[in-house]
Amino acid sequence: MTPLKQKIARLIEAHGPISVTDYFALCLADPEYGYYKTRDPFGRGGDFVTAPEISQLFGEMIGIFLVHAWQQHLKPKGDVRIAEIGPGRGTMMADALRVIAKLEPELYARATIHLVETSPTLREVQAKTLETHSGKVSWHSSFEEIPDGFLLLAGNEFFDAVPIRQFVKTPNGFRERLVGVDSQGELYFAAGAAGIDPALLPPGHQNAPLGAIAEVAPARSAIMQAIADRLFGTRGTAVFIDYGHLAPGLGDTLQAVYRHRFDPPLANPGEADLTSHVDFAALAEAARERAVHVNGMMTQGDFLLGLGILERAGALGRGRSPEEQETIRAAVQRLAGNGKNDMGELFKVIAVSSPEVALTPFR
Ligand code: SAH
Repeated sequence: MTPLKQKIARLIEAHGPISVTDYFALCLADPEYGYYKTRDPFGRGGDFVTAPEISQLFGEMIGIFLVHAWQQHLKPKGDVRIAEIGPGRGTMMADALRVIAKLEPELYARATIHLVETSPTLREVQAKTLETHSGKVSWHSSFEEIPDGFLLLAGNEFFDAVPIRQFVKTPNGFRERLVGVDSQGELYFAAGAAGIDPALLPPGHQNAPLGAIAEVAPARSAIMQAIADRLFGTRGTAVFIDYGHLAPGLGDTLQAVYRHRFDPPLANPGEADLTSHVDFAALAEAARERAVHVNGMMTQGDFLLGLGILERAGALGRGRSPEEQETIRAAVQRLAGNGKNDMGELFKVIAVSSPEVALTPFR
């Protein structure tokens, strides 16, 4: 039994079952035992591998996209903030900055770098990765702390780590999905007693079978709205990449990964990574409500191909050994391909801007 499981079991014994949202938040962010608070989970030694850790090509494409956005915004005068939410090991930002400095030295010179990160362990890793930019980098605990100025913002696998609410269909209609504890100290899913506002439920919920799960993510929408308000105020572009779906629907997407394997979400709180799929339509709606322009949504594969990942991979492989070229080819396949183990179709991208600008590959 993990220490966090004991802590959660005691909490439930004292106060009654907790919501999936609270469980999710405790798993990732409990100050003592939360998953991101205590470790560096990325890469081969960790629990999962993210796109920037697969190949430098991923961060480079993000760099190309941010340069392109700055140009389409007509290179605004004044301060520029290049920012990332949930930067992990800092790899994507390092790869993006190398491209930015090369393609647009003026942008690099004028920009300061802002990392929004809640984990002290990961801040240390990021500081190492970004050592060569150290005079320009600062850390913030929340997005709102990024100082004023034109904003270029990116986030990879950030929104999937923001807690969701779940509802379960019971004979009495949908109820909040809760986590309870049995006499053995094991956690289990339960349903709350109180009715819920049907406006929270996705289309089609009336015909859902018993046991069906619906998900909403008010915390994600709130973050998206804060970002949209900021873009509306100081201008700029934000791009987010995540595991998720472009159209809303019913279904349980809560997912735990422990040492590169799927794990039951209640089995190892604090030691397994916990995520859920991102509803991109909901993110787009949150942005539109705040009057910023949604450039579009597409698969990661289309996004990377549209930005020229094949050409960049070709240039990177030129003059290298056959083994090195094969590594690059395999990375492009994993990032942009549509096979079962590839990320190209499963991951999606959304970009938002204020004021409206036309951005490749969304137009
Ligand atoms: N972007 C990285 C890491 C993805 S994991 C990569 O692709 O490799 C999720 C990241 O979001 C971690 O860095 C985690 O510490 C951070 N995170 C989670 N919740 C956060 C929050 N509320 N505010 C800021 N960062 C958060």
